[in-house]
Amino acid sequence: MGTWQFEGGLKFDRNGSLVMNTRWTITTQDDDQEFSLRNTDLLLPGLADFHVHIHRSTHTLGVSPHALLRSGVLVGGDAGTIGWRDPVPTRKSLPNLKLWISLFPHGLKHHPTIVAFPGLNTSDTQHIEHVIEQHRHDIAGIKIRLGQIDAADDARLLKTGILIAEQVHVPLMVHVSGSFLPPESIVESLRPGDVITHAFHGLRGHFAQSSSAIKSLEDGVKRGIWLDVGQGSRHFSWRTFHRLTAVGIAPHTISTDITQATWHQPPVYDLSYVCSKLYAGGLPLSTIYHGVVTHPTQYLERPLPPHSLVIWRYRSSYTRFPDAEGMVEVGPGYWRPIVVVAHGHIVRNLLKKGVKIR
Ligand SMILES: [Zn+2]
Repeated sequence: MGTWQFEGGLKFDRNGSLVMNTRWTITTQDDDQEFSLRNTDLLLPGLADFHVHIHRSTHTLGVSPHALLRSGVLVGGDAGTIGWRDPVPTRKSLPNLKLWISLFPHGLKHHPTIVAFPGLNTSDTQHIEHVIEQHRHDIAGIKIRLGQIDAADDARLLKTGILIAEQVHVPLMVHVSGSFLPPESIVESLRPGDVITHAFHGLRGHFAQSSSAIKSLEDGVKRGIWLDVGQGSRHFSWRTFHRLTAVGIAPHTISTDITQATWHQPPVYDLSYVCSKLYAGGLPLSTIYHGVVTHPTQYLERPLPPHSLVIWRYRSSYTRFPDAEGMVEVGPGYWRPIVVVAHGHIVRNLLKKGVKIR
């Protein structure tokens, strides 16, 4: 056990404003160390990714918890990788995860097969109620995915999702990209605290398609609907992002929707890369901070563990950030996590060790 002290660099205050770091101290399982940082290094208390997919069995398409941890993600929301018929994993480890349970009995395991929503009978509904009651602490809410079959299927999913979520008093997360329903009708049916994930997609039914869709989303956000980025391979469009942010619609949470297929590959890569991309697209640094630190941890009621730290170093180099539609924004660089300490465990350290304290 020892103390690691970091001098220099920048950090965020409570409001998400940048301030100079004079000293940041954590207890680690290593010896005492002192490190001095570059002026532009950013110290964060850890990262939280609101929408990920975790690998749990040979059938899941998620990434390993350890890979996520190495990227600095200490808290996460697993968004519908498992369904209501699957056993709920409860093993406590880092990243500290909360689950969105898919309304499909076995979640999103068998990608990319497209299946119509089978519906729920009374005993299914009772089973879901029971699962959520039993695991309330580990379940964030219910997840549905629109845009798979047709408008009737979407409408059935949305109606059932809201009904069940209301019955068991949890929020509903709606994957909206490619939806066959008018975006206005989706927003209108959601309740405060419900989540729109892939909010900035450019596929069928996107929110920047008309002024009435934009207006309905604005009103929805005022009513308390939560907007999540959920970048993924196909769910982010620069055009949509610029139209929505131009009228002040910003994401509450910035997330990757990471899977084995997108891990360490553009357009997703990892959470630091997605943040760098949105920064290049003009999103203020404070919105990014709230999007990966305060908002997801508060929403999921999963605080970042103490004695944790992520240090981002900005690599200045002309960087192309593609969206899902072939549009590219160019940025002056990108952040990489050079230090990750999770609850005292050194997960990653690319800094040269400093002077040992006596
Ligand atoms: Zn997802």
